[in-house]
Amino acid sequence: MPCSTLATAPLPVLGRDVTVPLVTGGEVPYAALDYAASAPALQRVWDDVAAYAPYYGSVHRGAGHLSQLSTDLFEKARRTVAGFLDCRADDQVVFTRSTTDSLNLLAGALPEGCQVFVFETEHHAALLPWKGARVTWLDAPRSPLQAVRALERALADRDPGTPALVCVTGASNVTGELWPVRELAAAAHAHGARIVLDAAQLAPHHPVSVRDLDVDWVAFSGHKLYAPFGSGVLAGRADWLRAAEPYLAGGGASRTVTRRRDGGVDVEWHEGAARHEAGSPNVIGAYAIASACAALTEAGFDTLVARERHLVDVVRAGLAGIPEVRVLSLFGDDAPRVGVLSFVVEGFSSSHFAAALSAEYGIGVRDGLFCAHPLVRTLLGGEPGTRGECGAPAGALHAVRVSFGAGTPDEHVERFVNAVRELVRDGARWRYRTVDGRCVPEV
Ligand code: PMP
Repeated sequence: MPCSTLATAPLPVLGRDVTVPLVTGGEVPYAALDYAASAPALQRVWDDVAAYAPYYGSVHRGAGHLSQLSTDLFEKARRTVAGFLDCRADDQVVFTRSTTDSLNLLAGALPEGCQVFVFETEHHAALLPWKGARVTWLDAPRSPLQAVRALERALADRDPGTPALVCVTGASNVTGELWPVRELAAAAHAHGARIVLDAAQLAPHHPVSVRDLDVDWVAFSGHKLYAPFGSGVLAGRADWLRAAEPYLAGGGASRTVTRRRDGGVDVEWHEGAARHEAGSPNVIGAYAIASACAALTEAGFDTLVARERHLVDVVRAGLAGIPEVRVLSLFGDDAPRVGVLSFVVEGFSSSHFAAALSAEYGIGVRDGLFCAHPLVRTLLGGEPGTRGECGAPAGALHAVRVSFGAGTPDEHVERFVNAVRELVRDGARWRYRTVDGRCVPEV
């Protein structure tokens, strides 16, 4: 069957049988449409972790059989991730806690005097970690080509003698739009800069090839890649990581620690990935990420991408038929995107709308500014303020985001489109009030 007609999700996830109560009575299967925040765990990941759990042991330093087995699995997980990302032979894969953690790690490894270039459209995790560096924020571009031109101009203006890093997202967590990563990497390298790809939203939806995109580093999070066990990844060039102080100081990162006669301490740090993985690593988290990488690879990104495009088309076509709904976009309505769309609804505050989708339809979406305040502010054309009282339209201060992926059945997006249509046409059927700035149904 062609994937575009698959009605069930290509990859089974946990929670597909969970039902939730509706304020209007009865229960419905929960439609998890907030994948961009955290995707449900893949059944396969859960099963793999459960099968491994009895064999879990401390890695690297234990002499026992299970420690050795766990060490093997942990290091094999690194190789699986390297394969998933199509890394170069001498790249390093460091296990972190998340994308935020990965980018903070890299920020701590910038060479002296490094200049950082970021578009204002980035997630805060990519905008904010560069403490101590000279950071240039680039205005939101209105096309992929404008993005490349703007970066070229900014890099050409910099002092060519200084090291530079560009940080760019692969797919926006607000609009879902794909960024011209390969072209931005070429621009960065042509100007002697390096580039890190924030693949938090790209990796769960698209193949990511470090070699093909020619990026220097990639960061992503397990919990958005169907592996919510507290791990993330920073993969890429070893040199800056090797030259940097360890991200955390402690056991695991240190090879030898010697007390000197003068009372001081000499520490010899590891040079490989362990340098930045001090403390006991999250073995289960790393194993879960590797399991998710294997599952996505086996399912095949051709199938996954085609099927997700079908879901995006269903949502876009549905929302396009509702004049009160405005879908947010930087690069234009037809720009390629992953299964992430944000929108505003005339006559509704976003908080009210999201609360009604949950309470009356059993659909979980997100409302707000999605940790990308400058981007959402640009897209909405104004200053964000309060979320807006329930029932009192707050104009376009915040947006609603719907997001989905390989675990989403057709029914979830169809229910979503119908729900939006009904809410706009008939209004909410329930009463809502504001509690702590959030709209909640009256009990
Ligand atoms: N970058 C992007 C594009 C994201 O969407 C997110 C999470 N919303 C992050 C970075 C940060 O990821 P995490 O919270 O897992 O660190």
